[in-house]
Amino acid sequence: MDNWPKPLVLLSKCIEFDHCRYDGSMISSDFVKKIKPFVDFQLVCPEVEIGLGIPRKSLRLIRKDKKKRLVQPATDKDVTSEMMNFAESFLSKRLRIHGAILKSKSPSCGIKDVKLYAANKNAAPVKRTSGLFGEILLHSLPCVVESEGRLRNKFIQEHFLASIFTFARFERVKKKSSIAQLVLFHAENKFLFMAYNQELLRNMGRIAANQGDQSIETVLKEYETYLYAVFKKPPSHSSTINVLLHIFGFVSDNLSKSEKSFFMKLVDKYKHEKIPLTVLSNVLKSWVVRFGEPYLSTQTFFNPFPEDLLEEDLSMIADQQRYWE
Ligand code: SF4
Repeated sequence: MDNWPKPLVLLSKCIEFDHCRYDGSMISSDFVKKIKPFVDFQLVCPEVEIGLGIPRKSLRLIRKDKKKRLVQPATDKDVTSEMMNFAESFLSKRLRIHGAILKSKSPSCGIKDVKLYAANKNAAPVKRTSGLFGEILLHSLPCVVESEGRLRNKFIQEHFLASIFTFARFERVKKKSSIAQLVLFHAENKFLFMAYNQELLRNMGRIAANQGDQSIETVLKEYETYLYAVFKKPPSHSSTINVLLHIFGFVSDNLSKSEKSFFMKLVDKYKHEKIPLTVLSNVLKSWVVRFGEPYLSTQTFFNPFPEDLLEEDLSMIADQQRYWE
C-alpha cells in the first residue's frame, strides 16, 4: 500500500527536538529518528509551558495528604495546579492525535515509571507511578501512549506503528463519509483486527454492515470507538500465531516440505520472542503474492505501516534464510 497518510504523534519536545530538559540537555531516540519522515509531530514541553525556564531546578512527585503533588524541592514551589491546568487546556484542543511518545521517568511526562517520594526533601521513593501530564494524557486520549524507553523494544514498536497508521488511515475513511469505504476498510483490516481482538472484530463488522440503517455519522462514530479499543492492548502472541497459521493454511498446499518446515521454525522463534512479527509476516506475504491470493494480499496484517520502517527487520529475514540454508 503506497501513499501512506502521516499520523499525528504527540512528542515530548526534549526527545530529539530541543535542549529543554532541566539541565539543558536533549534525549536521543533511534525510534523517533526513524519515524521522523513518516509522521507529523506535535511537540510539547509541559514544564517550559508552565513558565519554568531552561535550565531549571529539577521537579519531583511527592505524596501529600494521599494526593500526588508536583514540586520543585530547591525552591519549595508546588506547580501541581499549573501543570494540571496546562494539561487540560492543551489536550482539550488536540483530539486528533493518533499516538503519543513521552519521555520516560519524568515527573511531568512519564507514564508509569516515575518515582513518587514521601516528601519533597530527604525521602526515599515509595513507589513508581505516572507523571502529572502523562497521567492526564493517559486518561484523555484514546490512542496508544508510549514512552521513548519502552519504544526501544521491537514488539512495542510494531504495536505502536500499527495503531497510529491504522488511525490515520481511518481519518481518510471519515473524510469520504461513505459506508462502502468503511466496509472496504474493515475488510482490508480483517486479519490485523483478528490478531488484536476477535470479539471487537465481530462487533465492528456488525457496525460496518449497518443493518439498522443509521446515519453515516453515527456509524463512523461508533466504529471509531471500537477501533481505538482494538489497539488498547498489543495482540497476544497466541492470537497472532493463530492468524498466521490461518493464512498459512491458504498457501501451504503449494509449498515444499522444506518451506513448510522453515515457516514453522520461524513461528517457533516468534513465539519465543526471538524475531519480530514483521519477519514472519513478510515471509508469508511473499507466498501470498507468489500464489496469487488477491483477497489476502491486500490485508493490512502484512503491512500495517510503511515498508521503509521495516528495513532492519527485512535484513533479519535474510539472516533467517541464510541460517536455514
Ligand atoms: S520530559 Fe517533558 S517536561 Fe521534561 S523536558 Fe522533556 S518534554 Fe519537557
